Amino acid sequence: MSTAAAQFKADARRLTADLGHRQRIQTALGKYELKRDEMKARFQDYEGARQLAADVKWDALNHLDRYLDQFVRNLEARGTRVHWATTAQQARDIIVGIAQARKARCIVKSKAMTGEEIHLNDALEKAGFEVVESDLGELIVQLRQEPPYHIVFPAMHLTRGEIRDVFERKLHDAPSDNPEALTMVARRVLRQKFLQADIGITGANFAVAETGMISVTENEGNARLTTALPRTMITLLGIEKVVPRFEDLALFLPLLATVGAGQLISGYNTLYAGPRQPGESDGPEEFHVVLLDNNRTALLADAEQRDALHCIRCGACLNVCPIFRNVGGHTYGTTYGGPIGSVITPHLRGLQDWKHLSFASSLCGACSQACPVKIDLAHHLLQNRRNAVREKPPVLWRCLWLGFSFVMRRPRLYRLAAKLGRVFQPLHALFQGSVLDPARAWTRTRNAPKIAPQTFTDWWRQRQGNQL
Ligand code: SF4
Repeated sequence: MSTAAAQFKADARRLTADLGHRQRIQTALGKYELKRDEMKARFQDYEGARQLAADVKWDALNHLDRYLDQFVRNLEARGTRVHWATTAQQARDIIVGIAQARKARCIVKSKAMTGEEIHLNDALEKAGFEVVESDLGELIVQLRQEPPYHIVFPAMHLTRGEIRDVFERKLHDAPSDNPEALTMVARRVLRQKFLQADIGITGANFAVAETGMISVTENEGNARLTTALPRTMITLLGIEKVVPRFEDLALFLPLLATVGAGQLISGYNTLYAGPRQPGESDGPEEFHVVLLDNNRTALLADAEQRDALHCIRCGACLNVCPIFRNVGGHTYGTTYGGPIGSVITPHLRGLQDWKHLSFASSLCGACSQACPVKIDLAHHLLQNRRNAVREKPPVLWRCLWLGFSFVMRRPRLYRLAAKLGRVFQPLHALFQGSVLDPARAWTRTRNAPKIAPQTFTDWWRQRQGNQL
């Protein structure tokens, strides 16, 4: 078992038993579901919108070379510097290099999961820069030195008291656990950092090929300040974020807000098209866009699972997943948790080390139903399981299935095995789940199914006999 798998198992067991944690997550997600359903009902044809979004993403991904080229040409035409990063290391080096060349000291960031993916904060801090997350949830988890818990709600696992405590310890200002008072503290601290910052770094929700624009959607206005005040702006985005046309945003922005946060539309939707142009009074003097691959092209080459790149990071599949709702976001040990994380992480970080995530699913299909771009996540989890076994078949697993198939193809042997099972099952019940039980990994948390007292054939024969 890989280290990541062992850690996942231990954390999942601990958090599933933590009823307070489970209650918090279920309550928060219960409220989200009510709002999401209310907003979904406002669509004239929600299923039609989902299908259209899936089709647009399919077109974008299947012609990615053309759309990326168009996007980059449009960006460069307005003076933006575009950088291509094949690996996470290259992306980190590019961004650290820009910060060093500008002799920056303070860097503000607005929510960028791609930054988490490449561990950008660690690299910048090691290089001596002060890095401040400006999204409130991200700031809270940064102060606690934890990764985000959820793609959209990074601090949803914390109580008001825990947030007050970390503000008290790190910001030395926490008048009470009142959310408004705590928000005002964060606002005061962040305003100061926005004014000091030399560089602002954002992620992107969409990259519009037709106009060469970056679309960022948020609710706090922090991304706007991150990009408007510092002299240098950097946007880090995965290459799959491209959409072909400007008008596609009219579909994706409300869809993302609805399924992501139960809103009709997010509070702030901004488009960035380059550095300050002659005659303009504000905006960054320099604008850099870093396009990240980090194994995305390998996933693109996989015709079976390519559509996992359609993901718009709305978090809806996490919100409905019974496993996520019980084990929580940190247990996955990856940047992207929940069903989409379980599908893409083995592609991004190695199948054998992360194949256990494909089993962190009841295969109920709720994630596939919830996905606004119609990614069949449950199916992809099965494909990952199959690929992992094909690549490296576990010996015990193989022996078990060979034995099963040997018995099932021989009716007499099958009947004998069933008879023996009936004799030995009561004996097994005596030590089920204990160290003496060879099937304890399975039976510790489940009851072994009871073997029927009679086979269907015997029952049928008996029935026929009775009728004669
Ligand atoms: S896979 Fe679908 S539901 Fe999950 S985060 Fe991505 S777009 Fe949202």
